[in-house]
Amino acid sequence: MSRHTKIFIGLILGAAAGVMCNMFFAASAQLAFFQKYITDPLGKIFLNFLIMMVVPLVFASLALGVAQIGDLKKLGRIGFKTITYFLVVTTLAVTIGLVLVNSIRPGDYLPEETKTKLLESYKGEASEIKSVSEKTEFGIQTLVDIVPRNPIASVAKPNPDMLALIFFSLMIGIALTVINRNKAEPLIKILEGINDVTVVIINIAMKLAPFGVFALIFGVTSRFGFDLLVALSMYVLTVLVGLLIHLIGSFSLLIKFFAKYNPYKFFKKIETVMLTAFSTSSSSATLPTTISVSQSNLGIPTQITGFVLPLGATMNMNGTALFEGVTVLFLAQVFGIELSLGMQLIVVLMSVLTAIGSAGVPSGSIPLLVMVMIMVNIPAEGIAIILGVDRILDMCRTVLNVTGDITCAAYIAKAEGHELKD
Ligand code: ASP
Repeated sequence: MSRHTKIFIGLILGAAAGVMCNMFFAASAQLAFFQKYITDPLGKIFLNFLIMMVVPLVFASLALGVAQIGDLKKLGRIGFKTITYFLVVTTLAVTIGLVLVNSIRPGDYLPEETKTKLLESYKGEASEIKSVSEKTEFGIQTLVDIVPRNPIASVAKPNPDMLALIFFSLMIGIALTVINRNKAEPLIKILEGINDVTVVIINIAMKLAPFGVFALIFGVTSRFGFDLLVALSMYVLTVLVGLLIHLIGSFSLLIKFFAKYNPYKFFKKIETVMLTAFSTSSSSATLPTTISVSQSNLGIPTQITGFVLPLGATMNMNGTALFEGVTVLFLAQVFGIELSLGMQLIVVLMSVLTAIGSAGVPSGSIPLLVMVMIMVNIPAEGIAIILGVDRILDMCRTVLNVTGDITCAAYIAKAEGHELKD
């Protein structure tokens, strides 16, 4: 049985078992025990196992990717194309979201009593997020922090500063390109070693995937407030339709016309990546799988996967940007605030920028989303309204985030004259 079939079975079984338990044993002590001592730890171990390798992997693959590109002019060209692609396609994603939320107007469907109830029941979590968001620096300091004063300190924390790591790794790669090949060789060999070891460890972790995925999905569905899904159905639907249009519409067109590849075949080949993203809700945790599948199934050369994919996992979040745009406007509608076209353009710009700055971890974008809300005068407490359905939306938007990265890598490979594997 192939790996993705096993993961898929884990996903379906986890979802089915979770929904059943939610229906029949929602408040039982046995279910709480099972979640606390079995499924939650198992899910966390699986996530940690993958995330554990992200810092060494990003460092080694980016530095090596740049060193293998080998020529600074070529690096500049690939870098320019990659960043332009990220910005244009992310802006397209937010635009799709805004058009939908303005036409469907999901905020008008939320009954007043549901709104009050949600604001009340998620008050605590909302104020926690608000204080995290107030502490998060986003502005000129974000730019300054991209150049780390101490590269080790910038990653030696639970939420590593990925942009700083990216900068440091790029610099190492560039330096390796500049110095004499003989001198560069030993470090290149070490980086290759780190890369190879990472692949082996990730393969071991992925053997756990069917069980890890079962546990993660069970944790979500067995706790999920399905009534909430119904109450917020118009909002959830707007986000999902937007994500679907971008996934099936924009990505297929980009794959067909930019990467010159059959979109159906493309999606088929990256199934494992999409499943991993869906069940982990984390671009970072999915990154090792994203890299290995892009190389082995699509034949994208390592120098391109090594450069584009680590950048993409942090900077290219199409699903997140679309979700942010829809959510800000939905909450504006709920609070009866009309955002002018100018304000909506600010929402587009800020959604793109904050999607770049969001961490690729579950709910990584929420504190930054609150920042955008404050910027356009929507009460920060309003985030409480959507928190209950965020995990489900997070799973879906993360699929787009990683698919977008591979779409970009496929385009760059084609543009650089490499044929993708049939
Ligand atoms: N979970 C998302 C990711 O890892 C980030 C977010 O939208 O919260 O890509």
